[in-house]
Amino acid sequence: MPLVTTTEMFKKAYDGGYAVGAFNVNNMEIVQGITEAAGELKSPVILQVSKGARAYANHTYLVKLVEAAVLENPEIPIALHLDHGDSFELCKSCIDGGFTSVMIDMSSKPFEENIAITKQVVEYAHAHGVVVEAELGTLEGVEDEVVVEAGQASYTRPEEVEEFVSRTGCDSLAIAIGTSHGAYKFRPEQCTRNEKGILVPPPLRFDVLEEVAKRLPGFPIVLHGSSSVPQEFVKMVNGYGGNMPDAVGIPEEQLRKAASMAVCKINIDSDIRLAMTGVIRKYFAEHPEAFDPRAYLKPARQAVKDMVAHKIVDVLGSDGRI
Ligand SMILES: [Zn+2]
Repeated sequence: MPLVTTTEMFKKAYDGGYAVGAFNVNNMEIVQGITEAAGELKSPVILQVSKGARAYANHTYLVKLVEAAVLENPEIPIALHLDHGDSFELCKSCIDGGFTSVMIDMSSKPFEENIAITKQVVEYAHAHGVVVEAELGTLEGVEDEVVVEAGQASYTRPEEVEEFVSRTGCDSLAIAIGTSHGAYKFRPEQCTRNEKGILVPPPLRFDVLEEVAKRLPGFPIVLHGSSSVPQEFVKMVNGYGGNMPDAVGIPEEQLRKAASMAVCKINIDSDIRLAMTGVIRKYFAEHPEAFDPRAYLKPARQAVKDMVAHKIVDVLGSDGRI
């Protein structure tokens, strides 16, 4: 099948009590690792491209890589999504350039300005058969060019969501319930430590999610910043010359719970970066003579595939849902 929008995916995910994974893509190995896992597990999948990824790899390369993945995996629905569009012009460029879904993120702007720009993107997108994700509330953390300082973040206010969705016409809504971008999602002083000395983050605000879902029945909700930063990979990175102290993410069981509720799309990027980096560091440490990029990118691609397979089966619950 050709690239699809997320409309059908989200409807089935909402009704089925699972979520579709949205994984960030930057190069061929990442696209291959994600889609091979989704293909084998018969899972729908969203490949998303940030402004930074587009600057790194070039729009045309990314679109053609994703089109190749679609040809190689004809059985599964694949959507191509712009992550964190920061202007109408960027969204328009992706809509004109073959994306099936875009995010316009005006969450840092005042409510009325967020509505006005989101509405403008929705009108253009819908006229071209493309769907739009918008955001209310802000997440902490760093993602490419999106940087929100600690203390500047705020939970989504449920009392705003009905007005926002009805006035903008957006197709899905990213909300802030305590997830955060990057591999350092929480400062140590926000957390407790378990018996192994690993940081334990504050729990997600499921009360906010429940209130949003009550006000928007059947409407797909999106979680950003939802990597879990598995400690085995933090250990691997640090054990082979890296330096990532106190990297911490969202516990997977909390994401599974969110997926069983109104959350239909869960964004995962840092865990893929971490897996690739850990495996490549290990490879170099064990093979100091290596200089063929295929030698270390092959296990890195396998690490992406294994990570995505684990997420699909154990966190998202989207396997066998095509
Ligand atoms: Zn995000």
